[in-house]
Amino acid sequence: MGLALSSLANYILPTVMSMTGLGLALGLLLLNRRKRKNLVINWHFLRSCNYNCKFCFHTAKTSHVVSLEQARKGLRKLYQKGMTRINLSGGEPFLKPKFLGQVCEFCHSELNIRVSIVSNGSKIKKSWLKKYGDFVDVLAISWDSFNENTLKTIGRMEKKKGRHTKQLKRISSWCKEYNIKFKINTVLCSANKNETMVKEIKELNPCRWKVFQCLLIHGENAGEGAIRDAKEMVVSRKEFDDFIKRHKEIKCLVPENNECMRNSYLILDEYMCFLNNTKGDKRQTVNILDNTEEALTDSGFDSTRFKNRTGEWCTSNLEW
Ligand code: SF4
Repeated sequence: MGLALSSLANYILPTVMSMTGLGLALGLLLLNRRKRKNLVINWHFLRSCNYNCKFCFHTAKTSHVVSLEQARKGLRKLYQKGMTRINLSGGEPFLKPKFLGQVCEFCHSELNIRVSIVSNGSKIKKSWLKKYGDFVDVLAISWDSFNENTLKTIGRMEKKKGRHTKQLKRISSWCKEYNIKFKINTVLCSANKNETMVKEIKELNPCRWKVFQCLLIHGENAGEGAIRDAKEMVVSRKEFDDFIKRHKEIKCLVPENNECMRNSYLILDEYMCFLNNTKGDKRQTVNILDNTEEALTDSGFDSTRFKNRTGEWCTSNLEW
């Protein structure tokens, strides 16, 4: 009897263990095969910036930048998970022009995905666009006003140099020359809410003009641990809507109020962790280099909101 029991135990235990193992392996396999398609990743690959915008929501808390090798490894993993477009931003991405160019080239030529960049424009050189322009689909310039005093109030300029509309015009013409789509991003805040920019925007003729309602993010531009305080910069929904109405003749205008913005972006930080904003702050997920699936699952990304805000440049449907 003792022998029979021990034989049974010898048989059952390994079987149960191997079945559990099989179940686990199957579960992992299913998880890894979870289908995602047409992901747009916003990679804030550095936090450093030469500007001091009061409402900045991705502030210079670290000066970290991953190596090119790590970047390639991480981006390849995201590609395998369904990334079809990357938006490179910061901080100011053109503070690392060589790294930026090499990442654009890798994404465009090796991964064959679309590439866009968001920059404050101050460090962009024609020679960079000549060298790397073939690897860039869209260049977006953050520009909040055509009035230098407003830009000064916001802090969207280098301390002593000022901010010149001439540079924006130059970038627009370089984009034409190098066949890059030119876009303008504007943050509506208390300093520019009463301005009318119809004439200037028409002259610049961007393919898109995104207007964002100034957003507070705990730990970035509001609350404990923040290195900016944007409380005085926020505008009400009514003020935001009034600005949009005043500019309704601009057909390429895409408004994004606070509701549209929240959790509708997949935001990857300078360490290659996603930032989950579901609780109003930015919480890091695990690193995509360690576990891409877990990082994506924990990113807080709201695919419905993404679709509702027209999922910029998305000609194909997101699957999440
Ligand atoms: S340009 Fe302004 S908003 Fe953009 S990263 Fe620099 S300080 Fe922040």
